[in-house]
Amino acid sequence: MAKVIVLMGAPGAGKGTQAQLISRRFGWPQISTGDILREMAEQDTPLGRHIKGVLASGRLVSDEILADIIQERTQRDDCRGGYILDGFPRTIHQAELLDRLVRERGHELVVINIAVARQALVARLAARRICPRCGAVYNMHSRPPREDELCDRCGTPLRRRADDHPDAIQKRLEVYQKETAPVIEYYRQQKKVAEIDGGRSMDEVFEDLVRVIEEKNGR
Ligand code: AMP
Repeated sequence: MAKVIVLMGAPGAGKGTQAQLISRRFGWPQISTGDILREMAEQDTPLGRHIKGVLASGRLVSDEILADIIQERTQRDDCRGGYILDGFPRTIHQAELLDRLVRERGHELVVINIAVARQALVARLAARRICPRCGAVYNMHSRPPREDELCDRCGTPLRRRADDHPDAIQKRLEVYQKETAPVIEYYRQQKKVAEIDGGRSMDEVFEDLVRVIEEKNGR
């Protein structure tokens, strides 16, 4: 049965980085709702401007907008054999929508929670840089680019995300506790969650993820 890998975890837990690695290893597309929204926020339209404002504040974009995005993206051909979700679902309402989609399409959910202590999250978010062109993610301490603030893959100058400043970081962690932590509880009650210690190196976390996915994949 095709798998839908759901990476849960607070902002800065490493969902995006690990989703890229899993995508490369298993060949499933990575669907990052944050990346999709950042792209939409570049458009000079009422919707683009609305999303831009919400992102910068650290709050969540509405469930209605997310429902449109996720339904459209997951029905494309490349998702037939499975896909990886990074940043979705973030509310119980979104989790219920995903349950429905997965059931209708005969897929199976694999939920993995990447747990990281709050102090480490704040430090990671402050040190994070992203490539605005190819989406590669860096950390100026633990995973710096080879050349000063340039993307290793495409040479583009790296940027700080608009929401990686102290006020938005606090807000995002608050929103996470209030809206998204209950989603993990929702899946725990269904005995669907594999827990991973995300406080270790990128390679160690990835090794654990591969083990969990291969087990669920029946290899
Ligand atoms: P991320 O890149 O996953 O940290 O997401 C960046 C921002 O995009 C979040 O702080 C939210 O404002 C918005 N966002 C991403 N995914 C969702 C979602 N599933 N529901 C609501 N807002 C989202």
